[in-house]
Amino acid sequence: MSENTNLSATPAVLVTGASTGIGAVYAQRFARRGHDLVLVARNVERMEALAATLRAEHGVAVDILPADLSNPVQRAAVETRLREDTQIGILVNNAGASLPGTFLDQPADDIERLIALNVTAPTRLAHAIAPRLAAQGSGAIINVGSVVGLAPEFGMAAYGATKSFILHLSQALNLQLGAQGVHVQAVLPAATRTEIWGHSGIDVETVQGVMEVEDLVDAALAGFDQGEPVTIPPLHDGAQWDGFEAARQTMAPGFAQSQPAPRYRQTA
Ligand code: NAP
Repeated sequence: MSENTNLSATPAVLVTGASTGIGAVYAQRFARRGHDLVLVARNVERMEALAATLRAEHGVAVDILPADLSNPVQRAAVETRLREDTQIGILVNNAGASLPGTFLDQPADDIERLIALNVTAPTRLAHAIAPRLAAQGSGAIINVGSVVGLAPEFGMAAYGATKSFILHLSQALNLQLGAQGVHVQAVLPAATRTEIWGHSGIDVETVQGVMEVEDLVDAALAGFDQGEPVTIPPLHDGAQWDGFEAARQTMAPGFAQSQPAPRYRQTA
């Protein structure tokens, strides 16, 4: 038997972006499974209301840690909590935003804030908890990306790039930490009915093929339970992802070349 009394079968879960949308449903689903929770977002009123419901319905402990994750000082408090609170065994890096308009219309400062929220925050939070999880040999990090990270054609350059980063970070961390008993999962939603659309100036009713948020999270958790490194709830033909991964991995051994490919050789 382990001497580490913090290795609980139902560790506490810290969910970012838990005040609404996908994060709020993650919180609800983990509470239903009996996990205590730490909710992180900016809107305290909404988190208080959710926490009261989850405590009453599921008898779990719910803490609220308000933070603007694009603000380094406020983010640091969340990092400290992840580093020091040995009850927390699962991190759900869900908080995120998109930007209205295209790259040419978007102010550089807005893009920088987007990167702080969608890239810097999840990376730093994962970095804060990962050593502790690796040392205890258990736990998980769930990173919410997007199918946009696979599709430059969708015209969302900065947002899509942040989500490509999430996919790469998740896959690489899963390879590194998996051997130490820590599971890292990337979840790639496509259009899901949440407030994110309104914030981006898009009427979600005009979008085709929108998934309900409960269906998205339940599918993502089914993938989590199956130990998937990458879960794409709307992708019906899973063989397409397997083929994509196989094609990518076929290229990798060929990268070790001292000479450029013949098509790039300049004639003097
Ligand atoms: P949402 O309904 O707009 O919720 C976003 C959550 O993030 C809210 O709880 C919000 O809370 C929090 N948040 C936003 N800015 C924050 C900040 N600066 N600091 C801390 N928390 C912040 O969006 P959602 O659709 O649930 O999105 C969740 C994740 O799914 C995002 O990473 C998004 O990119 C991804 N995703 C969504 C879709 C979709 O169609 N909905 C598709 C693909 C991927 P506060 O406002 O209270 O801070």
